Amino acid sequence: MQAFSDVESEEPMIRPAGNYTSFMDIALEEASAAAARGEVPVGAVIVRDNQILGRAGNRTRELFDPTAHAEVLAIREACKATASERLIGADLYVTLEPCAMCAGAISFARINRLYFAASDEKGGGVLHGGRFFRQPTCHHVPEVYEGINAAAATSLLKRFFTEKRAEGQEPELD
Ligand code: ZN
Repeated sequence: MQAFSDVESEEPMIRPAGNYTSFMDIALEEASAAAARGEVPVGAVIVRDNQILGRAGNRTRELFDPTAHAEVLAIREACKATASERLIGADLYVTLEPCAMCAGAISFARINRLYFAASDEKGGGVLHGGRFFRQPTCHHVPEVYEGINAAAATSLLKRFFTEKRAEGQEPELD
């Protein structure tokens, strides 16, 4: 568990993670399943009142869809399940720091809390890059908790990229 100290606002955006590991285990399951399909292993699950509304792993290759990130697919599933374009009061668990696109989708979906495992220096959009939730154009900011089961998520990603490289491929983490 890592504390995030670079907090600018008075109301801290990043809070201590606590013991929220069980739903992250489900997200990790989705990440493993993605790896087994040859997709970059990232998984996400959306929970409200202890109920899973949506869960997904990356399917960008399978669907020929660069937007088919785990978070986007889980949000679509949860919105469909609840017949709503907003997931007020719902929490999203994801194994990797969301990219800018997913951070936008999380905000539009009005996700209450975002829990993520590994941080992503190269492609993350929450703590890195454009830091979407910090922008004045972002109109809904979730509470953010990072570092939950980070080691497990990182080792899944490392194993995937090592194996792909051994096969002579250069897969990219979008
Ligand atoms: Zn994404």
